[in-house]
Amino acid sequence: MAYWFLVTLPPLVVALAYGRAPFFAWYGVGLGWLAALAWLAGWPSALAAGALVALGGVGAVFLLPALRRGVVTAGIFKAFRKALPSMSQTEKDALEAGTVWWEGELFGGRPDWQRLLAFPKPVLSDEEQRFLDVETTELCRLTRDWECTQKQDMPGEVWRYIKDQGFLGMIIPREYGGKGFSALAHSAVVTKLSTRSSAPAVTVMVPNSLGPAELLLHYGTPEQKNHYLPRLARGQEIPAFALTSPWAGSDAAAIPDAGVVCKGMYQGREVLGMRVSFDKRYITLAPVCTVFGLAFRLFDPQHLLGEVEDIGITCALVPHDHPGVAIGRRHLPLNAVWMNGPIRGKDVFMPLEFIIGGPAMAGQGWRMLMECLAAGRSISLPGSNTGMQKMTARAVGAYARVRYQFKTAVGRFEGVEEALARIGGNTWLSDAARVMTAGAIDLGEKPSVVSAIVKYHVTERARQTVNDGMDVIGGKGICLGPQNFLGRAYQQIPVAITVEGANILTRSLILFGQGAIRCHPYVLKEMHAAREGDLAAFDAALWGHVGFSVSNAARALVMGLSGARFVGVPQGAAPDTRHYYKQLTRMSAAFAFTADLAMGTLGGSLKRKEKLSARLGDVLAQMYLASCALKRFEDEGRQAADLPLLHWALQDCLHKAGEAFEGVIANFPNRLFAAFLRRVVVFPLGKPWAPPSDQLGQDVARLLIEPSATRDRLSADVYLPTDLEEPVAALEAAFRATVEAEPVEAKLRRAIKAGHFKPGLMIGGGVDAIYTAALEAGVITHDEHAIAMRRGALRDKVIRVDDFPYDFDLRAALVDVAEPRKAA
Ligand SMILES: Cc1cc2nc3c(=O)[nH]c(=O)nc-3n(C[C@H](O)[C@H](O)[C@H](O)COP(=O)(O)OP(=O)(O)OC[C@H]3O[C@@H](n4cnc5c(N)ncnc54)[C@H](O)[C@@H]3O)c2cc1C
Repeated sequence: MAYWFLVTLPPLVVALAYGRAPFFAWYGVGLGWLAALAWLAGWPSALAAGALVALGGVGAVFLLPALRRGVVTAGIFKAFRKALPSMSQTEKDALEAGTVWWEGELFGGRPDWQRLLAFPKPVLSDEEQRFLDVETTELCRLTRDWECTQKQDMPGEVWRYIKDQGFLGMIIPREYGGKGFSALAHSAVVTKLSTRSSAPAVTVMVPNSLGPAELLLHYGTPEQKNHYLPRLARGQEIPAFALTSPWAGSDAAAIPDAGVVCKGMYQGREVLGMRVSFDKRYITLAPVCTVFGLAFRLFDPQHLLGEVEDIGITCALVPHDHPGVAIGRRHLPLNAVWMNGPIRGKDVFMPLEFIIGGPAMAGQGWRMLMECLAAGRSISLPGSNTGMQKMTARAVGAYARVRYQFKTAVGRFEGVEEALARIGGNTWLSDAARVMTAGAIDLGEKPSVVSAIVKYHVTERARQTVNDGMDVIGGKGICLGPQNFLGRAYQQIPVAITVEGANILTRSLILFGQGAIRCHPYVLKEMHAAREGDLAAFDAALWGHVGFSVSNAARALVMGLSGARFVGVPQGAAPDTRHYYKQLTRMSAAFAFTADLAMGTLGGSLKRKEKLSARLGDVLAQMYLASCALKRFEDEGRQAADLPLLHWALQDCLHKAGEAFEGVIANFPNRLFAAFLRRVVVFPLGKPWAPPSDQLGQDVARLLIEPSATRDRLSADVYLPTDLEEPVAALEAAFRATVEAEPVEAKLRRAIKAGHFKPGLMIGGGVDAIYTAALEAGVITHDEHAIAMRRGALRDKVIRVDDFPYDFDLRAALVDVAEPRKAA
């Protein structure tokens, strides 16, 4: 009987841990269980009493905070403080910047799905929608990417339109003459422009993200705001922001650009200022900017400002024509049309009033940049890279229906279907992430980890989408020219991968590295307490942390063994989505425990274990993307026809997260813990998350090659030109004509099969001669013949590629420099 009773211990422990029972409950249950065991086993009363006193004594140490702190926590506190890696101020600023939003729930092991669904659906105001429909559409119409590429600039008319219509001041409040648009509107404009060309998209994107407007709004002095913001809003100033130097790219805080506080002449007066030397490169809009933000390290060796000699990174706002500034040359980032170039200066004297926020903000530059980075990073690249994907989904889907090989539309071959399914699923998911994240910014969040997640994952999925698109359209994508609708996007993809935190670094260092400390419910508290020597605060955080961790392990185990069948889902969740909420709750618990184990066993060295950190970041990111997909489905009114996209996206996220878990476990340094993770916490019954099935892939691919409301929703706000000389316009028309002509094609095929019509030899008549022969034989009607001929003409327009004289000289076009863009 006593032996049998022993078996009750593990479920009891798991039950207490699962329910995150308070310590006194553990204490009471423990004592009760031991007493019952002693009684069943018939222990002598002295032994039973001794065991109970021993357990009671040990338990009491934990039950009484003062005792626990002195006996147990103090030792751990000492060791923790010793092991805590030192952190520079710039690291601290980066770590503490921004806010924690939905990702905190995912890190907590028990996401509150009701909270996710209660976030308001992000919507555009009437004015924003009008701007998107009218001015943004017009800007798209005015921009012809091929012409811009040849001239290596947008025509003056396009520049004027951008400035006059306020595209450069979308985020500037109305009181300063800007549009005061929401983050969602800003994102929607960039997304739409990117469906047309990266030239206006990037040009508009930069002033509305880290361009000095954002910094001025948050930190500028009243004089700076009143002077610059109205001018930026009206397009009288074109801004740029210069941080990167040849020696400091990813490690931007290490910029060698330096300024020394000194006196000098400015506008005929001797003033206190800074003599700054700087060498910046890759600066977007630099060649045409009229004012640029400049980041440099400020020193005050003569103590003209105060006691501190190394004041730290400082941001100043410098006019492009300030004496000593060398500006105007350009790089060619993968032949991009938008402007980008170096800015240099040697011993340039500038008054202290150039510092953004004035002298009081000297040395605060890094914190300012980190605080403001989250908003821009959440919008610009997620927007532009979703735009590219939407255009790819729309145009490549159409092409796959129009283009025939082996007498079949290429989009119907299983191999091509695989690529189309990825294009559809990735586009839908990226758009979901774009919208939900922009919505967070509009709720007042500055989610630094989420911004890194969407930056990394939307650009990576865009890279996959555009690559897949290029594969599907074959040579049509490779030959550049006005008829190529995808090659330029393909060229630009690496730019998105590199800027605003290069992707390898973002994945390896930021997603989990920053996420683990920022989003974890206890780690930051423990670190603060350790730094400040606060044993009581450390004790509370530490034991909260232990309970949290043990509970997550138990919950992951129970959910793993039961397939998460009994896990709650948000009230009224759509039946098709219930499974995913359950799986994500299970994954969140497993992730939270794995993260704790990794941090607990590897400590500060986890920072150097980038591959492990990257994989943990992958799990967090896939859970975030999956949340966005669920939110989108609900916000869009549960469109039944979109279900294949939802299923594909969710299954892909779960599968990718599962693969990342597999990588963590396979490479976890402590093999005992690795086995515990595999067998108990993450995969107790084997791998549960399969990739999207072939059938599901086919369902998604079909959505891309059939006209439908789903296809329109997937590619909403793609700019669709109407001039049939434009490739996307011709594609749309050819797509519709192909769908219309397919019944005629089928009728002809049936007639041939039944022996009613023998096409015979049609030498030199072209691929559509058979329809003329069929008309003459009375197999098809005149109307049907006209339909087939129209399809043929449009198809021919679509499949053609450009050719040029063999001695065509692009350099000649380069000499034809467009008119200067500097504002008056
Ligand atoms: C077209 C373009 C526009 C730009 N616009 C601007 C602008 O307007 N203003 C501005 O200030 N800057 C701008 N930049 C600079 C951009 O932010 C940097 O290019 C970026 O920070 C990466 O720096 P890097 O190119 O020097 O790469 P490097 O820092 O040399 O990195 C090389 C590789 O190493 C990886 N790496 C580096 N450190 C680590 C690490 N610890 N762990 C793992 N991987 C790591 C990176 O991910 C990258 O893959 C622009 C760049 C380009 C190309």
